[in-house]
Amino acid sequence: MAKIRADFNDTIGNTPLIKLKRASEITGCTILGKAEFLNPGGSVKDRAALAIITDAEDKGLLKPGGVIVEGTAGNTGIGLALVANARGYRTVIVMPETQSQEKKDMLRLVGADLRLVPALPYANPGNYVRYSETLAKELAANEPAGVLWANQFDNTANRMGHYRTTGPEIWEQTDGKVDAFTCAVGTGGTLAGIGLALKERNKDIRIVLADPMGSALYNYYANGELKAEGTSITEGIGQGRITQNLVGAPIDGQVQVTDEEALPVIFDLIKEEGLVVGGSSGINIMAAIKVARDLGPGHTVVTVLCDYGTRYQSKLFNPAFLREKNLPVPEWLA
Ligand code: PMP
Repeated sequence: MAKIRADFNDTIGNTPLIKLKRASEITGCTILGKAEFLNPGGSVKDRAALAIITDAEDKGLLKPGGVIVEGTAGNTGIGLALVANARGYRTVIVMPETQSQEKKDMLRLVGADLRLVPALPYANPGNYVRYSETLAKELAANEPAGVLWANQFDNTANRMGHYRTTGPEIWEQTDGKVDAFTCAVGTGGTLAGIGLALKERNKDIRIVLADPMGSALYNYYANGELKAEGTSITEGIGQGRITQNLVGAPIDGQVQVTDEEALPVIFDLIKEEGLVVGGSSGINIMAAIKVARDLGPGHTVVTVLCDYGTRYQSKLFNPAFLREKNLPVPEWLA
């Protein structure tokens, strides 16, 4: 690797794979977390942002000065804005107002034109994803350099980014000694892209969906019914439909994880392993523990540490918020 990077985007990817001590100890397995929070924008979504923008450039869909429009829980917007700034594009980001203040602040900091909308189901045209598509069409009339709707959910450039980078990195970092991979789905890009890359190298690697409450995917993969129950305070994960990024994903099994199970995991990680990650990472690690228990001792299970915990300081790590939701409060925050 060159000692000097061509630019900041050049540091996206090639993240470390970290052994999770407690999760490994309690299962007798090796549980590894891909440290995606170390990407420049602080999340796994930098990879999708870079892949989508590069793909659009290759297809001639983005011209200098062009505008990128996207509906996002925040992380994809942050990744898009960073890459766009470095490459001379502007960003218009549509986000449900329920997402963390830290992500909104970061988007404003990097100069994205942030449009907050009410959190509405996908069936409603005002839903953040659907509104972002409408907005992209409206803006196109007055943007001579053109508008790209990034469309992370159904644009498979997203999963291809993981297929080309994250999956092969995991294979190389484990010397191919990986028995299972699990992660939660927002768009499905991470799970499908890594799943496809690993299966291509060893078809016996088990690919398992990790699903939070409030998502319809667990039931879909278990019994064909897109049905959701419960809720979760995690952000960026859970899905009510089969996105194009999920179509054909090689999924062998599914586990459901509650916030009550996931939160103690991330609190313990802070106190015992010095690792501060967000809610979706907690869901992923708890899912990896369940998969490891299923496989039995001696196996290697890989998951994703999607983003850094400070992104949720006002929620996940805020005692007042946790108490209001009847969730456990770590003793050093109480
Ligand atoms: N975790 C977080 C914090 C996210 O923002 C996202 C993306 N929305 C994911 C996990 C899920 O990744 P993917 O979209 O690739 O399924």
